Amino acid sequence: MQCNPEVKKRYKQLQLGVFSRKNSAFLAPLLCSLKVKFVEPEEIHAPSWFIMGCDSDTLYINPDRILSLSFKDSAYILEHELWHIARFHNIRRGNRDPKLWNIACDHVINLAMNSDGNYCSLPCLADPQYIDMSEEDIYRLLVQEQQSNPPPKEVPPSEQEGEDFSQDLVFDKDNKQTTNAIANVARAKQQAQLANGLSAGSIAGSLVKLWEKILSPKLPWESILRNLMKDIVPKAQLSWKRRNRRFMNIHLPSMCPAKKRLSHLVYAIDTSGSVKQEQLDRINTEIKYIHDHIKPKLLTVIQFDHFLEHIDVFTDKDIYENVELHGGGGTNYECIKDFVDSIDKRPDGLVVFTDLYAKPMSPLKDETIPVFWVAVNTALDESAIPFGTYIPVEV
Ligand SMILES: [Zn+2]
Repeated sequence: MQCNPEVKKRYKQLQLGVFSRKNSAFLAPLLCSLKVKFVEPEEIHAPSWFIMGCDSDTLYINPDRILSLSFKDSAYILEHELWHIARFHNIRRGNRDPKLWNIACDHVINLAMNSDGNYCSLPCLADPQYIDMSEEDIYRLLVQEQQSNPPPKEVPPSEQEGEDFSQDLVFDKDNKQTTNAIANVARAKQQAQLANGLSAGSIAGSLVKLWEKILSPKLPWESILRNLMKDIVPKAQLSWKRRNRRFMNIHLPSMCPAKKRLSHLVYAIDTSGSVKQEQLDRINTEIKYIHDHIKPKLLTVIQFDHFLEHIDVFTDKDIYENVELHGGGGTNYECIKDFVDSIDKRPDGLVVFTDLYAKPMSPLKDETIPVFWVAVNTALDESAIPFGTYIPVEV
């Protein structure tokens, strides 16, 4: 939409404000990498009081509202939006409820900004009971709270929310956006590092661990799976599709490289009591990496403890949504074996994430399926892995 010069001038001032704030070594390059769109709330299905919002790589601004607010409040909200992007809130949502997830994220951001001496005069979600808690933990509490105290079904729109800046996450299921978001944050982090702008006490400094987790999967997955493919995909096969150039008029079979795509991978996640949410986050990062970069045609993620607890299936066209923890009993690998033995589409490989605290699995019916045991936080116990490849991983 077109917007008047006053709005553009205000946005320029806000940009300059970010350049002179604490954490500017990180926030300024991040802001410069974003797309900015001036929108009416209805264009992005936002509530009427919408001020500013973001998805993973775009800032959305309601021009009327940023002119009506004080500079200090607008600057606060702009920084708030940047932290949503820096903390990968869109990417980390998975299939959680968008509104509750947004609330959990807002508490985390506002608490951090407040502790940095940065306040806003508008109503802010910053409940001290959530200090030092992750977005995921707050979300879990909010869900529990909602279950024990459900909100009334019909609330007139005028009474739903106030003049705050809640509901500012714009969710977009665009794979390209995720790639942009990761690249933008990685670049801003690098620039902040060069400028010594990630000191331990700063908000940006406190995010380094989170970024490392999301930006750099620890396992050399690509090389592991390339090796896996080498074993399971024929290097070349005879094909009548291409003609030999020297004999254009004669149909001859010629060597045609086989399509090097994995058709089906199965991931089995041990969700017994000993697996922590932090470890599951790590596993989600690894699986997402495989889904986005190796692109198997079919990716089945099963969760098990003593039994098969949950199954998620992703095709190469789907967006990988973080799987949530199901289960919590003791570990028994036989349910994985039963599952793999029973499915029609033979997997090209089975990857089991586990702590190896269980009786070894009996051999699969099809013993040619390669099996990888990715063991978290544990020393190798040979007897736990009677077959397959052991991959130790730190979480
Ligand atoms: Zn927010």
